[in-house]
Amino acid sequence: MDKIVIVVPCYNEQEVLRQFYAKLSNVLRELQDCSVSCLFVDDGSSDATLQILRELSTEDSNVHYRSLSRNFGKESAMLAGLDAADGDAVILMDADLQHPPELIPEMISWWRKGYDDVCMKRTDRRDETIFKRMMANLFYRVLQMVSRCTIQRNVGDFRLLDRRCVAALRLVRENQRFTKGLFTWIGFRKKELPFHVQPRAAGKTTWNYFALYNLAVEGLTSFTTAPLRLTTFLGLAVSLLAISYMFIVLINALLYGDPVAGYPTLMTVMLFLGGVQLLSLGILGEYLGRVFMESKQRPIYLVAEADGKDVLYAPEDSPERRIVRSVEKRGQLDETE
Ligand code: UDP
Ligand code: MG
Repeated sequence: MDKIVIVVPCYNEQEVLRQFYAKLSNVLRELQDCSVSCLFVDDGSSDATLQILRELSTEDSNVHYRSLSRNFGKESAMLAGLDAADGDAVILMDADLQHPPELIPEMISWWRKGYDDVCMKRTDRRDETIFKRMMANLFYRVLQMVSRCTIQRNVGDFRLLDRRCVAALRLVRENQRFTKGLFTWIGFRKKELPFHVQPRAAGKTTWNYFALYNLAVEGLTSFTTAPLRLTTFLGLAVSLLAISYMFIVLINALLYGDPVAGYPTLMTVMLFLGGVQLLSLGILGEYLGRVFMESKQRPIYLVAEADGKDVLYAPEDSPERRIVRSVEKRGQLDETE
């Protein structure tokens, strides 16, 4: 029988979690020919999410959870889930019911036909503001222009991955993860299925424009060094222009003499060059920062609790985990305090 694990990252999802679980288990009950378990990853929530997960896992033996020691971000939480999931296939989905569980049987059937990566493609972004859609468009276009692999458009994290893909993703241990790009990078046979994104069932999204901007920079810089090349090109072009202009100025001065004018030109050139230099420095800095972060080789996430047990990272077996004692034995903090 095929073993399928559903990995769900959750960050402050106390309002929807039970609703999500109810809907999911309704769908899973219909599935006959495979055993499905859920693996929730609590991404350091500050509300009752962890408490709910503890309850769910005692109520249902098919529910497992990992709780990270703080909020590491969705990308890291997903990796924590992938690391812990041992199934023939893994399904990634959000906890907020934006990814309809009803589609799971269809995803599984495509996997059985031989696809390794069944990705769900959103058919419309109508629920988003025009500005957000424009920015998304621009982002995809730029990313596609500068990177060698074809980036899938409007395809998010809602997908089914064969164990081969999961194993491949586990190999990629970069700290600054742009998972969307990594899915493309690993390759394997992909199948895109259309779906409608549902509005968030409850709670609120943690993404704002600033976070999205960061994600976009992350995506660009983690997948290509094209911006660096662009700065070289820009530098070259500006230098050529400057040299030509220098000749014009020189010849002008020699032939006609130069009554000291040209303050506007001077200012423009200075400001323009200053801008270009700062921009180039910034781009350099982005990459340097990334090298700095990666060179520390910190673990991508830390698990604090796994299925009711405390987790200890022992030096000799890190980053492997060792389970030391059950959570019940220790005093429980009230998470909502
Ligand atoms: N999430 C997470 N860690 C975070 C932020 C979000 O694990 O730091 C989870 C969240 O609980 C949800 C999923 O990632 O299951 C998508 O988050 P959200 O709905 O806020 O994003 P959106 O759907 O707006 O892209
Ligand atoms: Mg959402």
